[in-house]
Amino acid sequence: QFLQLRTPDRCFKIVLCGDSGVGKSSFLERFCQNTFNEKTQVTIEIGFQMKSLVIDSTVISLQIWDTAGQERFRSLPHSYFRKADGVVLLYDITCEKSFQSVTSWLVNIQEVDIDQSAVIILIGNKEDLATTQRVISTECGKRLAEDCGAFFIETSAKTGHNIFETFDYMARTLQTRED
Ligand code: GDP
Ligand code: MG
Repeated sequence: QFLQLRTPDRCFKIVLCGDSGVGKSSFLERFCQNTFNEKTQVTIEIGFQMKSLVIDSTVISLQIWDTAGQERFRSLPHSYFRKADGVVLLYDITCEKSFQSVTSWLVNIQEVDIDQSAVIILIGNKEDLATTQRVISTECGKRLAEDCGAFFIETSAKTGHNIFETFDYMARTLQTRED
């Protein structure tokens, strides 16, 4: 891809968070490799993937960080969040507990004193299971997002529904933000 050869005009750090099993690694894999595995392995090391987008002829490079399973203990190192421009906070629409955890994740984010201008996106993932297994309504998700000043979107890493749109929104918002 020629895109990869062009020097990015801007680069942003994005971090994924949310309970274990909500689909963070699958979400990232869908966006970066456009693939999906029913059984994703727990990421062994903290790491990031790079992906470039063109927004209004500006090449934006996103450095997207995934956890290495430490989210199980809700203890991501401060360095994980340091200098993050954007946070993608996921819950699973079929898992009540993961939705309840959103509030503690938000508290966590405040504690590491992330940049006030950081863009926060709340994601209700596994939208493909909505008709059969949904327990958190779209309205509940929206309301919570409004309460914490986050953008809200429902996605599916399995089908790819709204995955690109999430990062497109993130990149556009960061791009138009004043430095
Ligand atoms: P993580 O712990 O947050 O990184 O979650 P994983 O990406 O490891 O996903 C946990 C499980 O949920 C795996 O079995 C995935 O295949 C499954 N999964 C992830 N996203 C989706 C989705 O959008 N739809 C469905 N049906 N399953 C998903
Ligand atoms: Mg994972």
